[in-house]
Amino acid sequence: MLMRLFPKELIMQEVSKERFIQIPEEIRDVYRLYRPTPMYRARGLEKALKTPAKIYYKYEGVSPPGSHKPNTAVAQAYYNMREGVEKLTTETGAGQWGSALAFGGAFFDIDVEVYMVRISYEQKPYRRVLMQLYGAEVYPSPSERTDVGKKILADDPDNTGSLGIAISEAVEACLKDERAKYSLGSVLNNVLMHQTVIGQEAREQLAIADDYPDEVIGCVGGGSSFAGLFEPFYHDKVTGKAPKDIEFTAVESTACPSMSSGEYLYDHGDTGRIIPLVLMHTLGHDFIPDPIHAGGLRYHGMAPSLSLMAEEGAIRVRAHDQVEVFEAAARFVMAEGIVPAPEPAHAVKAVIDEALRCRETGEEKTLLFLLCGHGHFDMKAYEDYLSGQLQPFTLPRERIQESLSELKRLYPWVSENR
Ligand SMILES: *Cc1c(COP(=O)(O)O)cnc(C)c1O
Repeated sequence: MLMRLFPKELIMQEVSKERFIQIPEEIRDVYRLYRPTPMYRARGLEKALKTPAKIYYKYEGVSPPGSHKPNTAVAQAYYNMREGVEKLTTETGAGQWGSALAFGGAFFDIDVEVYMVRISYEQKPYRRVLMQLYGAEVYPSPSERTDVGKKILADDPDNTGSLGIAISEAVEACLKDERAKYSLGSVLNNVLMHQTVIGQEAREQLAIADDYPDEVIGCVGGGSSFAGLFEPFYHDKVTGKAPKDIEFTAVESTACPSMSSGEYLYDHGDTGRIIPLVLMHTLGHDFIPDPIHAGGLRYHGMAPSLSLMAEEGAIRVRAHDQVEVFEAAARFVMAEGIVPAPEPAHAVKAVIDEALRCRETGEEKTLLFLLCGHGHFDMKAYEDYLSGQLQPFTLPRERIQESLSELKRLYPWVSENR
C-alpha cells in the first residue's frame, strides 16, 4: 500500500533513523528562490504591548505560494520525479498545500491533481486560480470523480467537505492511475523533517543576534510547520546544548481542537478509512469541523510524533477561537505591517497573551514564533472580521464524544490499546 502511494525515497525517510538527511542540490536550487526566509524582531509589537519580552518571528510567507508548504512540496516533487512518477494527486483545505504542490510540480515537470475542500473552493477562488496558474487541475471535494465522493454526495448533496474526505478522494484517484502517486502536505514524519530547514535557519539567525528563545510558539493543523521550527531547538534541549530551559507551545483552533480536546487513539488519517490506522490525537476520522476561516487548522488528527510529545508533556497545547485570533492578527498588522494568514494568527494570539503576561510579571523572556504564511488570499476573512460578522466557535464536547464513540464502535479495542 505505502509503495503504491509514495516513492521509495520518501518511505525510507519516513522510517529513517538518521539524525540528518542531506538536502539534494536540485531542491536547494528551488529553495534559493525564497530561502533563507527572514527572521524579524517584532519591535513594533513589543512597543505596542509595552512588554519587556523580546519577540522574534520567522516569516515563511516570502515563498512564492505564500507559506512554509513549498519546503516539503518541492522535496516531494523532486523525489517523485527521480522515480519516474508523472502525476501527483493530493488534497487541499484552504488551498495553501495545493498551491505549494502545484508550484513544486511545475519545477519538476509533474502533473498535479488537487481535491480542494468544497467550502474553501467556494470561499477562496483565488487560491484555485493560483493552483491552475502553476498548471494544476483542481476539483471541489466531495466530487463525483471518486467512489468515496459519490457515496458522500449521495447521502448529503450539500456536504461542504473536510480534509479527511479530500484525502480519501486523492488517495483513491492515485490508486486508480498507474502513473500517479499521492502527496500529503503535513502529518507524516518525512514532511515534518523537510520542514526542519525552518528551525535550523532560525537557530543560526538568532545566534547572529546573540539570542536564544525561552519559548517557541506555532500553530498546528497537522503539525508540520510547528515541528519544523521547534524540533531543532528540541534537539538542543534533549542533547543538553540549549543554553536555556526552553519550552514549546502548539496553538490550535477551538473549532478543531484535536490535541487539547481529542483523544490519543488509533485512528485513520482519512474519512474513507483507506489510510492505515495510526496512534495520534484525533477527533474521529468522520469529524467535519465547522467552516472557520483558518482552513489549514481543520484536520481531525495530528502528527503522531507531536501527539506523543504532547502526551509526554514535552510540548504545551493552547486553543483559541477565531474572533480573538483575528483581533490579535489586526494588532499585529498595525504594529508590524505584515498580514498573517488566519492559521499563524493563532500563534500571534498566544504570543500576545504571553507578552502581556510578561508585562505583568516583568519577565524579560525571549519568544520565537512562526509566521508560516501571509494572509493576502484571506481578505474575505479579514473583511468578515472588520464588519463584525465573525463568530467565536468552540466545538461542543458532545460532538467530539459523538464522533469518537463512532470510532470506538468500529474498533472496540482502540480504547484499551494505547
Ligand atoms: C497548512 C498550513 C497550516 C497547518 O499545517 P501544519 O502542518 O500544522 O503546518 C498552518 N498555516 C499555514 C499558513 C498553512 O498553509
